[in-house]
Amino acid sequence: MAADDIPFDKRFDLAPDTVDEVAPGVRRVLANNPGPFTFKGTVSYIIGRGKVAIVDPGPLDEAHIAALLSAVRNETVTHIFVTHTHRDHSPAVPAIKAATGALVLAEGPHRAARSLNVGEAPRLDASNDTDFQPDRALADGEVVAGKGFTIEAITTPGHTANHMAFAFKEADLVFSGDHVMAWSTPIVAPPDGAMSDYMASLDKLTRRGETIHFPGHGGAVTDAPRFVRHFTAHRKAREQSILEQLAKGEADVATLVQAIYVGLDPRLTRAAGLSVLAHLEDLVVRGIVATDGAPSIDGRYRFAGA
Ligand SMILES: [Zn+2]
Repeated sequence: MAADDIPFDKRFDLAPDTVDEVAPGVRRVLANNPGPFTFKGTVSYIIGRGKVAIVDPGPLDEAHIAALLSAVRNETVTHIFVTHTHRDHSPAVPAIKAATGALVLAEGPHRAARSLNVGEAPRLDASNDTDFQPDRALADGEVVAGKGFTIEAITTPGHTANHMAFAFKEADLVFSGDHVMAWSTPIVAPPDGAMSDYMASLDKLTRRGETIHFPGHGGAVTDAPRFVRHFTAHRKAREQSILEQLAKGEADVATLVQAIYVGLDPRLTRAAGLSVLAHLEDLVVRGIVATDGAPSIDGRYRFAGA
């Protein structure tokens, strides 16, 4: 297997808006919002029995909200945990909170990973839920005790600056949001995402003991530490291909995308460009690559010192 071959698992057969008990104390409900970034749709999780928590209520989708509320009827929702503020994960929060009175916990509101460069708007702005506000912001390592469940917050910036994974201590598993998924690597797109943060967050998870991750899209990641190491190798291989291209001469992002991504779904071209930009930003900070001014999607890139 090549270093960048990730053993993806794309098996995932779950009917939208039906309740599926996927592990003891863990139920999941799939939202009907399939797409190139969401795979079959967003997966919301219900933790515990009787007094429960919901992880990622999902998009603003009436059928999904109704399905989640129906799944927990006769139960009390005490907590809502949000992994990050993309529109497929958090916009259903106000409706679920209004119906249940649950406490909303997350790292914080949406923010970019760095200050914006002149003339730069957040590139995937339409995907951000900028209205989201947690009732209380969680710090890294903070432990929240519910009735029958204990959740540890793990800051995992990279996909977004406010991304958080949640460890379910009693079940020895992690809700990994979009940070680690079995079906695909996540988009890391500046200025909302940052590659250096993403890589550090991957390392952080490989140092943990949990072997099962339940992601925001698709099925469970098993043997998580090993799988996550494949993600790291994949990113390093991508960085290597960018450097190989730059060894042939100065290049812009579009040229690099064309050279590196073979057989890319055309709907993902822009995201691929942002992913390459994320690597270039990281390489510029590390002094390996140079550009004129701040790294931008329109910039030209070369080896530093060339
Ligand atoms: Zn996301």
